[in-house]
Amino acid sequence: CASGTGKKGMIAVIGGGPAGMMAAISAAENGSDVVIIEKNKILGKKLRITGKGRCNVTNACPVEEIFENIPSNRRFAYSAIYDFSNRDLMDFFEENGVPLKTERGQRVFPVSDKASDIAFALERKISKLNIKIITDSAEKIIIGNNAVSGVLTKSGKNISAESVIIATGGKSYSRTGSDGSGYILSEKAGHSIISPKPSLVPIETVENTKNLMGLSLKNVSVNIFTKTGKKLFSDFGEMMFSHFGLTGPIILSASCHMGETPCDKTIEIDLKPALNDKMLDARITRDFLKYRNKDFHNSLSDLLPVKLIGIIIERSGIDPYKKVNMITKEERKKLVHAIKHFSFTPKGYRPIEEAIVTSGGVSVKEIDPSTMMSKITDGLYFAGEIIDIDAYTGGFNLQIAFSTGHLAGKSTISKKVSELMGFVYIDTGAMYRAVGLKALKIGIDTKDEDALSSLLKDVVLDIKHEQGSQHIYLDGEDVSSLIRTPEVSMAASDVSAIPSVREAMVYLQRNLAKNHNVVMDGRDIGTCVLPDAEVKIFLTASIEARAERRFKELKEKGMDISFNDVKSDITIRRVQLLR
Ligand code: C5P
Repeated sequence: CASGTGKKGMIAVIGGGPAGMMAAISAAENGSDVVIIEKNKILGKKLRITGKGRCNVTNACPVEEIFENIPSNRRFAYSAIYDFSNRDLMDFFEENGVPLKTERGQRVFPVSDKASDIAFALERKISKLNIKIITDSAEKIIIGNNAVSGVLTKSGKNISAESVIIATGGKSYSRTGSDGSGYILSEKAGHSIISPKPSLVPIETVENTKNLMGLSLKNVSVNIFTKTGKKLFSDFGEMMFSHFGLTGPIILSASCHMGETPCDKTIEIDLKPALNDKMLDARITRDFLKYRNKDFHNSLSDLLPVKLIGIIIERSGIDPYKKVNMITKEERKKLVHAIKHFSFTPKGYRPIEEAIVTSGGVSVKEIDPSTMMSKITDGLYFAGEIIDIDAYTGGFNLQIAFSTGHLAGKSTISKKVSELMGFVYIDTGAMYRAVGLKALKIGIDTKDEDALSSLLKDVVLDIKHEQGSQHIYLDGEDVSSLIRTPEVSMAASDVSAIPSVREAMVYLQRNLAKNHNVVMDGRDIGTCVLPDAEVKIFLTASIEARAERRFKELKEKGMDISFNDVKSDITIRRVQLLR
């Protein structure tokens, strides 16, 4: 019995933002010595100001919906998000002293509304785990024989490390340190960079908005249209006017739906989305009655903020000095239109430095999604915004940062052992998962023994080792990420109970072991698959850890059960086993 008590090698994390901090925590929890190299004097500088200082840490939607909010390269995020989901992230913060609340659109914030509480929680954990912090910039990643061996810093320090995680962020908000330096480090390490572009960015407009500068509107809706009138996006919430045009939450959200040519779109703001045309007309009629003897320009102060009155009058085409009681029904209609279709023509996006998020970055084709490790250099990992993946607003970008960070910092003991020994690592669970996936794909009942037996005749499973990690191919397709979803977990568990499936898998596993030196991971390896293995390692977790895992699983399935019941059940079963 071995339980990984010995310390593993040093891991250097470049960048102390959300992805870097989470990667460092996860690596330290996995038994590694960790150092964070951060050029700012404080960790999480951008994190502390994000979400207007409130920090929309994640989104409480069902985990599958996260992927709908990742417009490009979403499949790359499967393993990372299923490995450390929004629920896991919420549990992490709550367990580390940050109570959370869920607001409109399932956006999750700290109850305190303070982004700094999120940063403090990460810092507390970092100090508890004795993670070292070096205030310096990484100048170069030291690579020899296609494997990393350390980091050279600007001040000349040479930090030896067996793994290096680049988590330097993108190019947006450069004043917080995300200046794109990570792209240079990555390029020098042989990676291709997909040209960084702003995403979630304020919009410059053709119309002059200087007079409206500083005006903030709540409870308005924004609609984006193409030239042909197709609606591309609609959202409700808060926005602001700036000297250049439009900004604020719903404008930033809109920006990532406007593509590379924002100029051929139209932005329409509905200033009174709760009222339809008829209701708004009735409301205006009431105000007109109240102000019937005033000039038109003196009649709108109950309806609109002062700064908007001039421009709305201009757009309505009504003479501002016309007596209110002289305004016709037709003119009221034009006023309703001006209020509900307050339109702007985009001139372009603000520069990338002002964007909340960078799209583009290190190409996902060169990163293994199941580990976040480089496919080019052994021991080099990526996490967070530096990777060419980005999402809409709503907490999804931070979730990606935390999930990829968590995955990059994690390495299983079996993988580590196989790396050290130069053996091939085989995760047999992945094989059962692939069979489960096939059953789901062709729509057969995962408990149907006959259907599965005949399905086995058509399954072509292949395990390949590419750039130091296992990839599983099902009928020629790399399904390494697809097999990590909860549906596939359930299907794998069903199919693994069917004797003909077990027989087929055991046959394949024995063949693999015949042809290679292997470290094989699975519950039946020592007893059934390879009873004569040279070394058998029985790895177990504490009763607490197992009970926590089981409790979470049962809760997710909607079972009303207490943690103590789960724990005592596991304890009893353990005592029975020992007898
Ligand atoms: O380890 P992992 O969770 O990926 O395994 C998926 C499922 O495959 C397990 O829940 C288990 O039901 C099954 N399995 C098995 N025998 C193995 C490995 C996995 O029955 N050797």
